[in-house]
Amino acid sequence: MTLDVDWAVRWVRASAATVTEHREELIELDRQIGDGDHGENLTRGFTAVIAKLDALDAPPEQVGDVLKLVATTLMSTVGGAAGPLYGTAYLRAAKVTASAQLNSAGVVALLEAATEGIVARGKARPGEKTMVDAWTPAVAAAVAAADAGAPPSEVLAAAAAGAAEGAQATIPLLATKGRASYLGERSIGHLDPGARSTELILAAAAGAAVD
Ligand code: ADP
Ligand code: MG
Repeated sequence: MTLDVDWAVRWVRASAATVTEHREELIELDRQIGDGDHGENLTRGFTAVIAKLDALDAPPEQVGDVLKLVATTLMSTVGGAAGPLYGTAYLRAAKVTASAQLNSAGVVALLEAATEGIVARGKARPGEKTMVDAWTPAVAAAVAAADAGAPPSEVLAAAAAGAAEGAQATIPLLATKGRASYLGERSIGHLDPGARSTELILAAAAGAAVD
């Protein structure tokens, strides 16, 4: 059981659909501890990604080709923190997925590279109430599933579940990175918007995996 370029395309289309569907929710979360643009930022970015995907002369050949297109498009169309952070995540992930098929170890490598990209770019550690708090448990869950012999689809399902738990766990945290950190103690009691969008995007990855 492996994942191919068609999975990557389905993932990107499902990501666009889910961030668009949850646009208002992400805006509201960001309104509570930020500036209220996260849902708009991601909807604009992923809409641009789909437009570029649809305009390609030839279909992409590798998973990494799809992820690179996402990276460059998000970097050029999404302002604020999330554009460069997600852009770097997809760029790093693209570098480790230059093969036609991903097995479970390949899925783990993709998720690890994406997380390393976000940390390299944003310098947040776990516990600072950012998207890192969703990515980190997602990777841990993916590693555990892959080590237990799970196929790629189950590795992604584990990652999505880890991200969901991690996102919920941001609620009691005090934000010490990003815009929410300006609120100090008032950031406590709110779900981090970037952790929630990470949960949505990884759920889309799992949903796109059919094996
Ligand atoms: P902005 O904060 O510039 O308005 P967005 O609203 O699009 O950008 O994205 C906000 C999200 O970005 C936060 O919810 C958080 O998850 C994430 N974020 C912000 N700063 C960092 C950072 N240094 N490292 C990791 N994630 C961060
Ligand atoms: Mg914002």
